[in-house]
Amino acid sequence: TLEYVPVPAFTDNYIWLVSNGRDAVVVDPGEAAPVRAFLAQRRLRLSAILLTHHHADHVGGVADLCGDAPVPVYGPAAEAIAEVTHPLSGGDRVRIEAPAMELTVLDVPGHTRGHIAYFQAGRDGVAPHVFCGDTLFACGCGRLFEGTPAQMLASLDALAALPGETQVHCAHEYTLSNIRFALACEPDNAELRAWHEEAAARRARDEPTLPTTIAHERAVNPFLRAQREDVRATLAEQLH
Ligand code: ZN
Ligand code: FE
Repeated sequence: TLEYVPVPAFTDNYIWLVSNGRDAVVVDPGEAAPVRAFLAQRRLRLSAILLTHHHADHVGGVADLCGDAPVPVYGPAAEAIAEVTHPLSGGDRVRIEAPAMELTVLDVPGHTRGHIAYFQAGRDGVAPHVFCGDTLFACGCGRLFEGTPAQMLASLDALAALPGETQVHCAHEYTLSNIRFALACEPDNAELRAWHEEAAARRARDEPTLPTTIAHERAVNPFLRAQREDVRATLAEQLH
């Protein structure tokens, strides 16, 4: 079985590290130092790097990590990232030997034009996982730097259509501030209010609020609930 660890970086980034106890893959290493420290502490060997988009807080550590020992670097074909050795676009598959992982690439433009996500299908007793970078956050979504609102909505709809039990590995700890906006959209959403309590308690203990699940996001994330009449009505009211 694989372990999924959010390695904290900068002020609010998570570099997701997947390991089988010997080998590890990292997603979006914006800086090398916290990854190196974790690998050394756990005596793990880095076997591959996955990138979701070109922003520096996601790719800044790649050159340093590859300087230690070169590994395959997977990333979006539609973005210029010098270190990428395996360019990918929607529908492509990634197979990693150790840790044994098979991933399907999803095109999720919006935050950036070429942003991709990596979906790992589930099997008997093992949950599916998705690494979605800065597209879907717990209770929120990424800022539109390069894409259009329609592109982002389509990307969020594609992620929302994944199996409900999918573990969602987002690249930032933005949950509490996202919940403040979500509560303004849906003050009477009981599941959202309960999640606010729980998320605040976790942050008070300095614990991550991630991963979340697709089913949970469908219930509390206003960007996956934009078609709901009550969400629209509240937002329309607030715009006046
Ligand atoms: Zn970004
Ligand atoms: Fe980011």
